[in-house]
Amino acid sequence: MRLTMIGSGYVGLVSGACFADFGHEVTCVDLSEAKIAALQDGQIPIFEPGLETLVSENAEAGRLRFTTDLAAAVADADVVFIAVGTPSRRGDGHADLSYVYAAAADIARAVTGFTVIVTKSTVPVGTGDEVERIMRDVNPDADVVVVSNPEFLREGAAIDDFKRPDRIVIGIEDERAREVMTEVYRPLYLNQAPLMFTGRRTAELTKYAGNAFLALKITFINEMADLCEKTGANVQDVARGIGLDKRIGPKFLNAGPGYGGSCFPKDTLALVKTGQDHDTPLRLVETTVSINDQRKRSMGRKVIAACGGDVRGKAIGILGLTFKPNTDDMRDAPSIAIIQTLRDAGAKVRAFDPEGMAMARGMIDGVEYCQDAYEVAQGAACVVLVTEWNAFRSLDLPRLKASMAVPTFVDLRNVYRAREMEAAGLTYVSIGRPAGV
Ligand code: NAD
Repeated sequence: MRLTMIGSGYVGLVSGACFADFGHEVTCVDLSEAKIAALQDGQIPIFEPGLETLVSENAEAGRLRFTTDLAAAVADADVVFIAVGTPSRRGDGHADLSYVYAAAADIARAVTGFTVIVTKSTVPVGTGDEVERIMRDVNPDADVVVVSNPEFLREGAAIDDFKRPDRIVIGIEDERAREVMTEVYRPLYLNQAPLMFTGRRTAELTKYAGNAFLALKITFINEMADLCEKTGANVQDVARGIGLDKRIGPKFLNAGPGYGGSCFPKDTLALVKTGQDHDTPLRLVETTVSINDQRKRSMGRKVIAACGGDVRGKAIGILGLTFKPNTDDMRDAPSIAIIQTLRDAGAKVRAFDPEGMAMARGMIDGVEYCQDAYEVAQGAACVVLVTEWNAFRSLDLPRLKASMAVPTFVDLRNVYRAREMEAAGLTYVSIGRPAGV
């Protein structure tokens, strides 16, 4: 089949490359000329494990192309995916749908013949109706059906997630889309990935419900961690103890600095706004959003407390800036609020991240960027592990300690054990675990 992806970011590029790998003929479109020129030149504008090989193999095989010419790419397509960004709208937290609507209008002007238009971007319930209305207004003769097919991939494991999904949710209002979408996903369907057809609004809401539930789970264990700290219990054991219950499950129960990234913060907020607009306040989600917002700065205060309550003029080392390992994505990363809190208190912040520093430079001011963890530690009054990259999992602790001004290590991901830290002469602070654990 001939597929066109509108938007070649984390979702569009990964999905496009994977669809090409299934044997479809894929054209990835983007507004950014720099991004498309890089892709045409064999360079991958984002860091995602395995993506470079997947893109180059499929480009060489002639199944994957890149262009800024949306009209030409749409005119030939059987299926057009909209995979543009839906960030939080400045000021009110609703999803900003301007990119989706602009893409819909551009697509409508360019379609020829029967075409299935698929919204892959995360969009509030009812957006498909609006996309359909825009397309009919712009081109009343267009023979299109609008489908919702939200994407559930995770950055850092995106290719595997796309190729081995827990489920594929497809929301349709017109039966003609069922056959086409089954054909699009046939290779996965043959691999037993459940293909779940629902109404379009249901599919749209399913994506937000999933993200909100996961955000709630993380926030729950984070609050349990705080209680563990006050009561001498161990949050890792509590998480294991409840996670072994199959009704709860072990995933998303790692206490940490609060969730971040390009999806959970904006999607939970957008869902809250949707609830309010429909006079159905989603209080659990509202509370989750507010607890998580406060948690990020509270992690900065935790570091200040570990430094004896004062960091003015002191160097604080940060290990990891991205919202999670194996991505270069800095959007809404907890490190941003943590560093801001430390800088507000007068600290001098030094940081290293294996992939995130290029994006971080444009987002965080006043940070001295280093080459590795050991340079970060030089002269530091405290080193803080914020993102659990593999590079930080087996640090040479005596070497780290030797260059620090004060040997305090704050581990916001519970990667280490107190015993090994203390054996190396470091004072160790972690999340929700009693002293010495
Ligand atoms: P992104 O910002 O990385 O990529 C979006 C791309 O779309 C950009 O390159 C932009 O230049 C391009 N674009 C915008 N308008 C365009 C237009 N009219 N024509 C052509 N290109 C256009 O965003 P992303 O992280 O890939 O997210 C895309 C959507 O997928 C969002 O709705 C997001 O919530 C959702 N999503 C993201 C993830 C994730 O892990 N990143 C996972 C699941 C769902």
